[in-house]
Amino acid sequence: MKPAPFEYVTAGTVEEAVSALADGGDMAKILAGGQSLVPLLALRLARPDVLVDVNSVTGLDSIAVEDGTLRIGALARHRAVERDAAVADRFPIVSEAVSKIGHVAIRNRGTVGGSVAHADPAAEWPTVLLALDGEVEVASRAGRRVVPAEELFVSYLTTSLSWDEMLCEIRLKQPPGTCGSSFLELARRDGDFAMVGVAAVLGFTSGEVTHCRIALSGVGSTPVRARAAEASLVGTAADAEAIGAAAATVSEEIEPSGDIHGSADYRRKVASVLTRRALDAARAAIEGR
Ligand SMILES: Cc1cc2nc3c(=O)[nH]c(=O)nc-3n(C[C@H](O)[C@H](O)[C@H](O)COP(=O)(O)OP(=O)(O)OC[C@H]3O[C@@H](n4cnc5c(N)ncnc54)[C@H](O)[C@@H]3O)c2cc1C
Repeated sequence: MKPAPFEYVTAGTVEEAVSALADGGDMAKILAGGQSLVPLLALRLARPDVLVDVNSVTGLDSIAVEDGTLRIGALARHRAVERDAAVADRFPIVSEAVSKIGHVAIRNRGTVGGSVAHADPAAEWPTVLLALDGEVEVASRAGRRVVPAEELFVSYLTTSLSWDEMLCEIRLKQPPGTCGSSFLELARRDGDFAMVGVAAVLGFTSGEVTHCRIALSGVGSTPVRARAAEASLVGTAADAEAIGAAAATVSEEIEPSGDIHGSADYRRKVASVLTRRALDAARAAIEGR
């Protein structure tokens, strides 16, 4: 099938892009890497009147660590983040997660902003955004605003961004304390979207967990945090018993649905096993330093 007809506009700046979005009304859409949008167009599951191609916008592909914050321009490609040495050194969970996105060809083209804006609950970026207390900066004709990750993901493929807003930057915070992290997932085949993914972050102060984030993909209509499991680990030494209890709590607090790839019960079990392994790996990362 071929896409329905649309008007094609190229933008060279953020201002041009948000102007074109505002002029196009709620039937205008941004085209970034096209790795999610183009298949939807070809299947006519998306039928925008106007496509605003932002690939020529300059200055939106930077990747920088500043004062403990990783700032990534919306147009940075997954592969550029995967290969960035500062990211691997300071934010290893990001490198780990991004290397699991599709195949190299998809990572060469797909953008970080596109993945976050697309808000697939099985995707890696939204889950990492939650695990690292991230936020995004968005622009519209009315100006700029910052949206915390907690307020961004509303439902399946739906964010709280308005149709006339363009995502410009994502920011991820280095966790406090002596920190270890891990991102694990289970996919049917290498390169497939994961059935379940887990991002685990542990921060220790004086031998005790003082910071814990457990974010999961594939177990709801948005990425979710396992808050009860996180709370159960704070104040412990994250020994095998505490990690086992947190993993069991995860399976009780999530509400996955079943689909052709796996039942709800199966996802619950996978989430629990991956959580235990990810927490073990996060702890081992600290001990290995
Ligand atoms: C075979 C295959 C396997 C894949 N596997 C995975 C996987 O395992 N994990 C994974 O996470 N992803 C996977 N993807 C999707 C890939 O990561 C995409 O790159 C990503 O989802 C979208 O990024 P994009 O730049 O291609 O966005 P596009 O496809 O261009 O756009 C996607 C959506 O986001 C909107 N958008 C794009 N940029 C912005 C912006 N700056 N501001 C506001 N809205 C914007 C568009 O309007 C559109 O609605 C896969 C894709 C394919 C084709």
